[in-house]
Amino acid sequence: MSLKITKIETVTVPEIMPGLLLLRIHTDAGIIGCGETYYVPHAVASMIHDWMARRLLGADPLAVESHWRFLYERTTNFGSRGTELRAISAIDLALWDILGQVCEQPVWQLLGGRTQASIPIYNSSGGPSYGGKRKDNSQGWPGYGEVGNEGPYNDYWAMVNKPVDYAKEMLDLGYRALKTWTLDFAAHKVRGGLYLRPEDLDEALRPLRAIREALGGQVELMLDGHGFFQLPMALRIARALRPLDVLWVEDIIRPDSIATIADFRHKADIPVAVSEMMIGPDDYRMVLEERAADYIMIDPTWVGGISQTHRIAQHAQVYNIPVVMHDCTGPLTMLSGVQVATATANVVWQETVRAHINLLYPQLITEQPVIEAGHVLPPTQPGIGTAWLDSLFSGPELRVSEG
Ligand SMILES: [Mg+2]
Repeated sequence: MSLKITKIETVTVPEIMPGLLLLRIHTDAGIIGCGETYYVPHAVASMIHDWMARRLLGADPLAVESHWRFLYERTTNFGSRGTELRAISAIDLALWDILGQVCEQPVWQLLGGRTQASIPIYNSSGGPSYGGKRKDNSQGWPGYGEVGNEGPYNDYWAMVNKPVDYAKEMLDLGYRALKTWTLDFAAHKVRGGLYLRPEDLDEALRPLRAIREALGGQVELMLDGHGFFQLPMALRIARALRPLDVLWVEDIIRPDSIATIADFRHKADIPVAVSEMMIGPDDYRMVLEERAADYIMIDPTWVGGISQTHRIAQHAQVYNIPVVMHDCTGPLTMLSGVQVATATANVVWQETVRAHINLLYPQLITEQPVIEAGHVLPPTQPGIGTAWLDSLFSGPELRVSEG
């Protein structure tokens, strides 16, 4: 089949998720591929329209790996991490989506077929605006989300203020695992990442203790430090967490140095997940070789899309280290994780945010993820499993490259 890319569109939706960049790649056959990435979306849009579009317009959209390598290798001249890899990620998703539609198969089928009937999910205890939306629709800082007020699906407030009621509600819905980031408030105090007062640590762990005391081991708990702490305080946190039998801690320590993460893991005596903040494939190789992780966590739209996520997940399997797919960003990131998780035998959890699934995704996509009893079902539609709502691709935020 001979296809050509005819048009590339990006748009942002600040009133829904200010950090999200929506991408569509059109072909001369009328097939449209959808992609996304998250954080500083206008910079990524510029990277795509001002530069990468030259490679893609008029080219074969089915040459997924060829485009990935070309764009990646050209960006390594000035550093491929960050904006560049987020742009490649969004493009890669859209190209896999086109390939799936051409083949009339879901992406997971093209990656090797089904290894599990459904993917266990955990709920990240955020709210509908967690992850960056502020009152003026601008994007906040990562790790600075507000606890907010009691309200529909504000699970951050619920975890802090009514942890046992919240955990019971989630158990009743079929969820077995909950993640929280109750240390953030302490880290935001002056020099919080360098020194953590025992009383602040005690307050941060209070919801976890309450859930353990009330519900025992019925619910798995994970704690995300959002990369705020250095080694001594990370070890203080780890010592306090040992009796709570957490499934893992995540980014308790800044992931700048893989050697220090490995040191932390070897002294912490609790399981450690590393890390959606890793970006390059060589970071993950070093994490695995240094025995720095009990879980490998990947964000599909930060590392280089479905292509790179699949490669990293396969690499982790060589070491028998399970993989967790990051979310808390946008719907196609989540569905990309599900696609790879379905086709990869060592993906153990898919992160989800039920506030986003219930309140934001219906404003963004045509087909919603199917959640049943704490699992997400692999999409059955050809391609990535959903599409952007047409109505979003209009207005002053729309950018178009044609050729
Ligand atoms: Mg995290």
